[in-house]
Amino acid sequence: MSDPSRPKQPRIIAIANQKGGVGKTTTAINLAAGLAEKGARVLLVDLDPQGNASTGLGIETSDRKITTYDLLIDDAPLETVIRPTNIPGLLICPANADLSSADIELVANEKRSFLLHDALRQPAIDRFALDFILIDCPPSLSLLTVNALIASHSVLVPLQSEFFALEGLSQLMLSVREVRQTANPNLRIEGVVLTMYDGRNRLSQQVELDARENLGDLVFQTIIPRNVRVSEAPSFALPVLNYDTASKGSEAYRALAAELIARHPLDRTEEHA
Ligand code: ADP
Ligand code: MG
Repeated sequence: MSDPSRPKQPRIIAIANQKGGVGKTTTAINLAAGLAEKGARVLLVDLDPQGNASTGLGIETSDRKITTYDLLIDDAPLETVIRPTNIPGLLICPANADLSSADIELVANEKRSFLLHDALRQPAIDRFALDFILIDCPPSLSLLTVNALIASHSVLVPLQSEFFALEGLSQLMLSVREVRQTANPNLRIEGVVLTMYDGRNRLSQQVELDARENLGDLVFQTIIPRNVRVSEAPSFALPVLNYDTASKGSEAYRALAAELIARHPLDRTEEHA
């Protein structure tokens, strides 16, 4: 139930696909940066023990003392876990390898599937005045991903433009259905975004055709092209939007952010209500 005394709550979106290397982390970082560039306040929750989103945003491993693991397992207060990045308006809950043991540790915990849900709904979240929370999921359908699906309003699925891409999707959709039937009946599919698209490659074109034919409006208009600037940016600890602002990859992630904001407009009037 929404509490009228609290400000508008952020839209929480899990970025998930159980396949690795399909562009989840890249999309999490650059969509977050695209939203922040449009004036949104965004929190990126790194929920992958590999911590690639944290690295890509310049949080050194040695500088990750309090992480998503502490948020989930040790009830660490939000304000100790959430930190600024070099990008204005973009905050992060960093992750490190500690998170890889969370799956096992959580098995004995009765509330194990709701830990992230509860953590992100603490009243203390209000002080960050967030518009969006993006969750970068690990490449599995583990308890961590289930936590993300239960915590979220919707799930955004990066789909690599390659053979068998759609086959992998049905497994994820089964998990979404299961979560809907139990813990989170309102979970929506925010959309499927084609990543690493190569327009010269007939296979890419075929994957797009198949996706649009089978999934219709669930597929975002925006397509993320394969672009070397996108893959270079993390080693400079920057989103591609800041690393090479005019690149094709930057333009694409800006367009994706615009599609999201068109659906979920930034509401600035309530701040003064
Ligand atoms: P995941 O989080 O799903 O495992 P990543 O986002 O880490 O996937 O992407 C996997 C690899 O593909 C990374 O090396 C990344 O730099 C590269 N990559 C992702 N998107 C693009 C793109 N649009 N153009 C070029 N390389 C990309
Ligand atoms: Mg990743």
